[in-house]
Amino acid sequence: MAFSFLPDHILPALTDLTADLLRERGIRFLMLDFDNTVVPYTTDTPTEEMEAWFSSMQGSGITLCMVSNSKRERVKRFCDQRGIPCIRRAKKPFWRVGIRQALLRFGFGAGESAIVGDQIFTDTLGGNGAGVTTFLVTPIDNHNIWLKLRHVAEKPFIHLAKRRISHEEH
Ligand SMILES: [Mg+2]
Repeated sequence: MAFSFLPDHILPALTDLTADLLRERGIRFLMLDFDNTVVPYTTDTPTEEMEAWFSSMQGSGITLCMVSNSKRERVKRFCDQRGIPCIRRAKKPFWRVGIRQALLRFGFGAGESAIVGDQIFTDTLGGNGAGVTTFLVTPIDNHNIWLKLRHVAEKPFIHLAKRRISHEEH
């Protein structure tokens, strides 16, 4: 458990996260952010590539759970249509709410769990607080100025995390 703005891993998109990559790290449980990680705020329909990613991940034996701060019906609808468990109003980065609820519901420990999301100040911070592995992906579409500004505020942390990750790899 640590207070940190630095994700453990950075990937271009959710579809770049593979079951093999998770298994290599001993991860059996993957919590997913919804908005701008799975679909942009502006649509409920995922790309074909994203749809295929869900099918393959669900068939891989990795347990999935959507953990979204949103209270909106569209998150639940997406999950219900695909048989994915869903926790809304997760209050990330306060990991004692949604993230802990997800771990307890499925009985996974932090060491075998990960969270993937597009926001450092919610997904990464919350995941690090809970002690799970954190994956940061690029937001699908920052369609308004507030989202763009937030991403600018995240940039120094993304830069630091990339440096740390490249040091670890070399
Ligand atoms: Mg998001």
